[in-house]
Amino acid sequence: MSIKHDVIVLGSGIAGLRAAIEAARNPDLDVAIFSKVQLMRSHSVCAEGGTAAVMQPDEGDSLELHAWDTVRGADFLCDQDVVMRFVEEAPKEILLLEHWGIPWSRRPDGRIAQRPFGGHTYNRAVFAADKTGFFEMQTLYDTLQKYSNVTRYDECYVASVLIKDNVFRGITVWSLADGDFFLVQGKALIIASGGACRMFAFTTYSLTATGDGIAMAYRAGLPVKDVEFVQFHPTGLVPSGILITEAARGEGGYLLNNENSRFMEKYASAKMELAPRDIIARAEMTEIEEGRGFTGPDGLDYVHVDLRHLGPARIYERLPLIREVAMRFNFIDPVEEPIPVRPAAHYFMGGVHADIDGATPVEGIWVAGEVACLSLHGANRLGSNSTAECLVWGRIAGQQAAGRALKQGAFPTLPEEAALKEEELRVFGRFGADATESAFAVRRELQKVMDAEVAVYRTGPGLETALKKVKELKQAVPAIRVKDRGRVYNTDLLSALEIENLLDLAEAVVAGALARTESRGAHARRDFPQRDDVNWLKHTLAHYTPTGPRIEYIPVKVTAWEPIERKY
Ligand SMILES: Cc1cc2nc3c(=O)[nH]c(=O)nc-3n(C[C@H](O)[C@H](O)[C@H](O)COP(=O)(O)OP(=O)(O)OC[C@H]3O[C@@H](n4cnc5c(N)ncnc54)[C@H](O)[C@@H]3O)c2cc1C
Repeated sequence: MSIKHDVIVLGSGIAGLRAAIEAARNPDLDVAIFSKVQLMRSHSVCAEGGTAAVMQPDEGDSLELHAWDTVRGADFLCDQDVVMRFVEEAPKEILLLEHWGIPWSRRPDGRIAQRPFGGHTYNRAVFAADKTGFFEMQTLYDTLQKYSNVTRYDECYVASVLIKDNVFRGITVWSLADGDFFLVQGKALIIASGGACRMFAFTTYSLTATGDGIAMAYRAGLPVKDVEFVQFHPTGLVPSGILITEAARGEGGYLLNNENSRFMEKYASAKMELAPRDIIARAEMTEIEEGRGFTGPDGLDYVHVDLRHLGPARIYERLPLIREVAMRFNFIDPVEEPIPVRPAAHYFMGGVHADIDGATPVEGIWVAGEVACLSLHGANRLGSNSTAECLVWGRIAGQQAAGRALKQGAFPTLPEEAALKEEELRVFGRFGADATESAFAVRRELQKVMDAEVAVYRTGPGLETALKKVKELKQAVPAIRVKDRGRVYNTDLLSALEIENLLDLAEAVVAGALARTESRGAHARRDFPQRDDVNWLKHTLAHYTPTGPRIEYIPVKVTAWEPIERKY
């Protein structure tokens, strides 16, 4: 079976839906969206706290200020031309969503409300209570209904991207619901498949965040950039890892140690609980390691985020989801008790290497959202900049991909039949009787070593251990046993494919982290505690090879701000 669509969108999160709408505005184009889950179950629905944009230039905010906050937050590893484009485009997306019907929370005077977020020097996060992502997804979904030229493929796992002579040809797809394996030919592809935080056990991310799109692009020859930079969010709920949004601190919540002291005083006396996430995550780990934390289950020691002083009315109005989560999962009401939290893997600053338009080095492939590294977030993303990025580059990539599809007459020719057979074999050839490894055991081992050695603080020897372990686990991949022999909703097989993706990426993460002998943003090496601009103000590019990543470096674009020391 072979299907054709002009523009293929891989992923139905905020970035994918925004891209699909933009492409579908051209009635001559036939657009398709593929998602391995039902469309609205993408991780984007979990976004809680807000979306950053300059909405009040008349009251003191400015594009330059948003750009500067982002650059400083990124520890100067971002490309500053990308940052400028981002801050210019973000307010337009907020207004567009408003016109499409999103119920933004508002101020008493009727203007769109904005709350404080870490590392931003102005109240800049536009929000809809603490369910911002849910309402953004809902609004994009509603808008998508206007376009009859979009086909949805829900619960379809995209297994690979087909490229020949550096030109995009198509994708291979396994339909989970009916077991079919088929090829989809396209003129342009937008990869919007999200991040890969599930290589860590303690994470705020959905089980589906397994980096499939990054891994399949990487294996198909596209380089990945800056993947050693993984963000740890300071307030993952212990023990589940569910996110307690930064808005909890934006609304005025305190971080407390076991001496009931607001310890951020020592680490960032000006910004306190609203310092950037990398700084707070390190502060929490230091408090815990020096004995000022609370003892948690399975080694998950923690500190407290305390909302009690905000009063019930503010918590009910602004943080209803946080209260619900704390009550349902921990049986505590934040109106009356502090919440146990610790740093949790939360965001991939790195991803598939792309230029300022989201274009990758392969003709016909764009990336948008968390899968991409443009580079906007450098070494540390500021909270609320990600959903904004998804909207901005969803639009840009959608427009660019549509432009190519309109210009191009015929569909590019496909690779040989044999290549497809080989891919089908890679997916379904796992039913061999002699396989012995369990996908779940392999994933557990990977997560254990990543949590232990590649988290908030890293060291050379620890990273060596992690690299050795990841390589060992990669050896086990061909022997992963799939007990379920059916093709329909075979979650056993799906897990095996996902773990393969996570392992390929984990190897690039660890290799990049080991090579980078400095500390910058979220990458904190105990053995190299200083930032080193002379040797390391550069992006890491990792190229896939069967024996491990080949690493090279490219310069960072500095257009306005030279690096200075970060103080908050
Ligand atoms: C709990 C939580 C709260 C957050 N809060 C905020 C916030 O307040 N503000 C903010 O700016 N950011 C926030 N973030 C980050 C932000 O939400 C994400 O970075 C962003 O939503 C990612 O969107 P995306 O469109 O790139 O991908 P996702 O929403 O992750 O969607 C990925 C899509 O790709 C599909 N897919 C993946 N692999 C395959 C495959 N192999 N085949 C087919 N389909 C595939 C999935 O089905 C899904 O549709 C939060 C993140 C989390 C986890």
